[in-house]
Amino acid sequence: MSFLEIHGVEAFYGDSHILFDLSLAVDEGEVVCLLGRNGAGKTTTLKSIVGLVPPRSGRITLRGHGVTGLAPYRIARLGIGYVPEERRIFGNLTVHENLEVARRTWGDGGGIAWTAERVFELFPHLASLRGRMAGRLSGGEQQMLTIARTLMGNPSLLLLDEPSEGLAPLVVEMLAVQLARLKSTGLTMLVAEQNVHFVSELGDRVYILEKGTVRYQGSMREFVSNEDVRRAHLAV
Ligand code: ATP
Repeated sequence: MSFLEIHGVEAFYGDSHILFDLSLAVDEGEVVCLLGRNGAGKTTTLKSIVGLVPPRSGRITLRGHGVTGLAPYRIARLGIGYVPEERRIFGNLTVHENLEVARRTWGDGGGIAWTAERVFELFPHLASLRGRMAGRLSGGEQQMLTIARTLMGNPSLLLLDEPSEGLAPLVVEMLAVQLARLKSTGLTMLVAEQNVHFVSELGDRVYILEKGTVRYQGSMREFVSNEDVRRAHLAV
């Protein structure tokens, strides 16, 4: 039994059929990357997991417990932390205040109880900004703060939707280092991305989505060395 399992999920927006018989699994402690072009269905997959786009059929389990059809707040309380594409911070609060207001005590955090101090240890750059108004942070700093705020909910599984999007190359490198540090805490992650380079060091396994179905799955090592697959599915 994997930590997260998705079996045969079909998802729709109204009459538009978006996900087709989608299945994937994430093991405990793994970082799995969901790759695919714009509109492939990456965001919809993450939204199905957190209950924002409930699957019309299929099954999603977390540690073997069915979560399909549960309200998003109940799924969050089971330990799923979701970092959406659009960054969620309070611009008129400081970095430290942003973390404190995001604190939740229900998750088990994969054994870690996150506090602002613990976040600052992991992300020293954020520590140096702790008194700064969040609205004055750069895009990359805001992304880091958004991730840090989600950690304050003590998730056992972190879902990240295109964390590198819109960030300058140097900032993307920095974010990759921070996420690698987070991985080393043992946190399980599912990362939707278009930037293969960004996740190539971080990810253990890869799924490639195309038109709402899984077209390829394999280890990151296999994927990185397989130029044909990359070219066929991602145009990189
Ligand atoms: P992106 O990088 O653009 O976010 P993605 O792989 O995350 O791409 P999704 O956002 O899941 O893709 O979109 C999958 C499909 O669903 C696309 O064809 C998109 O146009 C469509 N779609 C997304 N949101 C809605 C919506 N609210 N209503 C109708 N169709 C939608």
